[in-house]
Amino acid sequence: MKSLLPDHRPRKRFGQNFLRAPHVVEKILAAAELTPGERVVEIGPGLGALTDRLLENGALVTAFEVDRDLAAALERRDEAMLTVCLGDVLKSDWPALLPEPPYKLVANLPYNISSQVLFKILDHRPLFGRLVLMFQKEVGDRLLAAPATRDYGILSVLVQNWFEVTRVVKVAPGCFHPPPKVDSVVLHFEPRPRPLAPVTDEAALRRLVKAVFAQRRKTLRNGLLGAGYEADAVDRALANLAIPATCRGETLTITQMARLADELG
Ligand code: SAM
Repeated sequence: MKSLLPDHRPRKRFGQNFLRAPHVVEKILAAAELTPGERVVEIGPGLGALTDRLLENGALVTAFEVDRDLAAALERRDEAMLTVCLGDVLKSDWPALLPEPPYKLVANLPYNISSQVLFKILDHRPLFGRLVLMFQKEVGDRLLAAPATRDYGILSVLVQNWFEVTRVVKVAPGCFHPPPKVDSVVLHFEPRPRPLAPVTDEAALRRLVKAVFAQRRKTLRNGLLGAGYEADAVDRALANLAIPATCRGETLTITQMARLADELG
């Protein structure tokens, strides 16, 4: 892999762990299944390990990079197929900068902001088709988790409701420079044509899921009361859905969460 800036010192505050394993890059590309001319968003192109291969595969790439030096080096290459957006991807105006959806999102994410990126993706779901993203393994485990398991949490419910999530490849620390302290995993997210569990009000589902997982060890009823839901409403909703008040919230399926969110409003 050619290096964009041979003297660049990786910046920890930007979560810079650069991929240096061509076989991992190829697995990411294979999962993305690009066709020439397809629009792709990359978050954090860094030294260009993925970006180069996306461009070589004929993708039209919009890349968000917060590191000025790296963004400038990419821009100096004057690639017609590449648009570099300098700045924090979390603060960027995606609808304005991504005017021609759908985009595939392909990225080795900075791990310190990966959950926030996922929430932003959920907020802007119509912009995206397939996602192929690298996470630290613990976050990946949560995204793949089933109900009633240790890893099942807010992101499992909210993401799996809209995307079918599968593992592409596990990635060892030695595949990066510098090696992170944790293992990593690449996941493939395929948008579902319809959500697993339709909800009337997505904000209500988010609120409910946050309440349920904020107090994992409490019973569902106590957890919901602790989060500010009214006792009468909770009792009525649980009875209507035949959910035992004493169960733990983390055992609820995504469909049960969605129904409960609808009942509670
Ligand atoms: N894609 C490259 C690779 O695989 O080698 C670099 C991946 S590195 C894990 C994360 C990249 O995201 C870095 O280039 C970093 O500067 C960039 N980054 C970190 N925080 C960012 C943010 N808030 N917005 C945009 N880019 C960010």
